[in-house]
Formats: sequence, C-alpha cells, structure tokens
Amino acid sequence: MTDPTTSCLFCRIMRHEIPSRRVYEDEHVYAFEDIDPKAPTHVLVIPKRHFADLKEAEAGDAELIGRCHLVAAKIARERKIENGYRTVLNVGPGAGQSVFHLHVHLLGGRHLSWPPG
Ligand code: AMP
Ligand code: ZN
Repeated sequence: MTDPTTSCLFCRIMRHEIPSRRVYEDEHVYAFEDIDPKAPTHVLVIPKRHFADLKEAEAGDAELIGRCHLVAAKIARERKIENGYRTVLNVGPGAGQSVFHLHVHLLGGRHLSWPPG
C-alpha cells in the first residue's frame, strides 16, 4: 500500500518540501498561516502524525487533537483575539474539507457570524 504521507500536502509542508509561514511548532504539532486567509488571523494547526480527518480519529488520538486546540488557544492569546475567535474542523468534502490531513482552522480578528455557511 502506498504511504499516504508521501503525497499529503500538509505532511510535505511539515517536511519543508513545500514552504509555509510557520507560527508554532513542537514535538507533536505544527501551525502555519493559511495561504488564502479568510480572516485577519487564519492559522492552520495540524498534528504531526498523519490522519485524514476526525472520522479516522480514535480514542488514542484524543490527546493529540486536544493539543491542536490548545495550540490554537495559545496563538489566539498571543494575537490578542480572545474577544472572539473560532476553531473549526471541516470534516469531509460536504463540509468544505479539501486537504485530507486533519487540521484545526483558527479564525479571528474580525466579527464571526453564526451560523457558519
Ligand atoms: P479545508 O478546506 O478545511 O480542507 O482547509 C484547507 C486549507 O488549506 C484552506 O483554507 C487552504 O487555503 C489551505 N491551504 C491549501 N494549500 C495551502 C498551502 N500550501 N499553505 C497553506 N495553506 C494552504
Ligand atoms: Zn498528512
């Protein structure tokens, strides 16, 4: 079976095969600026271990997914957007997912309407 990480866009970004504007990195998590920002702050936070989406996640992935959200909260704090920001996981093409490596969108710095489209 072919290794999904070989061609995965976000795995390639993590390996620095494709450039990105890094915001944060630790042993488990990588965060970078979205190339097509939908808000003044639009950062993507990804686990360093590849899995396609939330549907693939298992109980053992809970800590890693939690870490991604905590990194988003840390970035939001640093950027002083804590009055209101949003963390979003698009799950599946029907919800707009276009890159199949789980990622948390951190959006903020403007008013965010509800419900989302
Ligand atoms: P989604 O549609 O939820 O799968 O989100 C994928 C996100 O990745 C979109 O917001 C894209 O703008 C973003 N994106 C695609 N290619 C790149 C790239 N090379 N560097 C940074 N962000 C990217
Ligand atoms: Zn990947």
